[in-house]
Amino acid sequence: MALDLFNDYTMTIDGKAETAAATIEAHNPATEAVIAHVPDASREQLDAAVASAKAAFPAWAARPVEERQALVAKIGEVMQEHAEELSRLLTLEQGKAKAGADWEIGGSIAWCGGIATQSLPVRIIEEDEHRTVEMRHVPVGVVGAITPWNFPILLAIWKIAPALVAGNTMVLKPSPYTPLCTLKIGEMLRGVLPDGVLNVVSGGNDLGAWMTGHPDIAKISFTGSTETGKKVMQSASSNLKGITLELGGNDPAIVLPDVDPKQMAKELFWAAFQNSAQFCCAAKRLYIHDDIYDELRDELVEYARTVKMGDGSQQGVQLGPIQNKMQFEKVKDLLADAKANGYEAVLGGEVPEGAGYFVPVTIYDNPPEDARVVKEEAFGPVLPLMRFTDIEDVIARANDTDMGLAASVWSSDWTKAKAIGERIEAGVIWINEIHTFSPFASFGGHKQSGIGVTNAHEGLAEFTNLQTINTRKEPAVTIA
Ligand code: NAD
Repeated sequence: MALDLFNDYTMTIDGKAETAAATIEAHNPATEAVIAHVPDASREQLDAAVASAKAAFPAWAARPVEERQALVAKIGEVMQEHAEELSRLLTLEQGKAKAGADWEIGGSIAWCGGIATQSLPVRIIEEDEHRTVEMRHVPVGVVGAITPWNFPILLAIWKIAPALVAGNTMVLKPSPYTPLCTLKIGEMLRGVLPDGVLNVVSGGNDLGAWMTGHPDIAKISFTGSTETGKKVMQSASSNLKGITLELGGNDPAIVLPDVDPKQMAKELFWAAFQNSAQFCCAAKRLYIHDDIYDELRDELVEYARTVKMGDGSQQGVQLGPIQNKMQFEKVKDLLADAKANGYEAVLGGEVPEGAGYFVPVTIYDNPPEDARVVKEEAFGPVLPLMRFTDIEDVIARANDTDMGLAASVWSSDWTKAKAIGERIEAGVIWINEIHTFSPFASFGGHKQSGIGVTNAHEGLAEFTNLQTINTRKEPAVTIA
């Protein structure tokens, strides 16, 4: 039977469809209309999913890595068959514009192919005629994967692909705000992957907490807020689970005086506002040299006025709404605080009445460094522009945060920019570009932006334990 992406959302447990006694509503953030009901998993259903993943683990781990790689590549191929509908469903549930949805689906497919070429070789530490010492990576067992609502598909694939290639099985839980695409990916992989290798469960935050405390889950791979990340770390201590945490950011972008403001405005706009700034590594604080500050501010505002915000499914729309009401209220609160403190919005600042969680593009003109709109991750289309004159001062301001996810430096002299970038305390640095990612380059935050990395061999290794095998190449001495 052909797969219907727009109806009948079921969980995937042990390769089979599962409904639940309770359901949760999914909304279209552009209209606030209820678009689907999805299962709200019970604790027993989570136990069943974990038991299925645990039962599937030995056979999956024992398969040659080439077979696991081939099946991960196949995940990408199956997604490709449904790419157009997946993109439409992503816009419907997440709100993002079509170009952004296509980018996310295309990126996810490419990721499966890229990760499917990776493996972790055995390292021979010592070898002679008497003994060998080798280090190898072994899978951890059942991985619990928990994802957020901003890039629900891509961030799920960033977990599924390496975890499975490394030989683990998985229980995956999407955000309760964006469960639809993830549930459908689970459905389309039934019969493609062996039963139990990938279980997909849906539910609220409680379900996430049950997972992090579950005794048969060996590792949690979590992407979400720093606040929740701390709870995950605490709860994972119950059975000393491994954790990888990809958390929030408050990324600085530093613009040196030698760039052409007119040419830079468009790129810097998208650096900050892509995905309506619901982007962990969006440029969230824009430090502009005083020499070009006024001109670049004006160019940014002029370009921003040409960008169309609306229902992502409509032609020509470039920016969608905030994904959910909770986040909408948070961003509005930030705008209210800025207003109460008299910070000047050169664009936006007021949220119009009407259906949908729309926050207009808002740009603040040089608010103080301790303003909430500078200190906090807005996770919405709100950008503070700040003046600087001295490089040492701007580096100190860029680093004056608990966050350390990413940063960018922009200049016509890339060596100079790179030298500044190397002094920023963050896991990813971009020089004269932004938001370029690769399955072969690590992505992960410093400070309170995370623990561990995703992607690259180091990301793959996070889904394994190291095992050292010491072998004496002589008969074992038996004691008479
Ligand atoms: P969130 O922390 O509210 O939720 C993330 C996930 O955790 C959801 O699936 C949620 O149901 C689950 N959850 C909630 N409470 C839980 C608990 N107590 N135990 C276990 N799981 C629980 O985050 P969000 O609002 O969905 O996402 C936005 C945040 O994610 C932003 O801070 C953003 O910067 C961050 N983010 C980081 C990255 C990255 O790679 N570093 C990528 C995307 C988003």
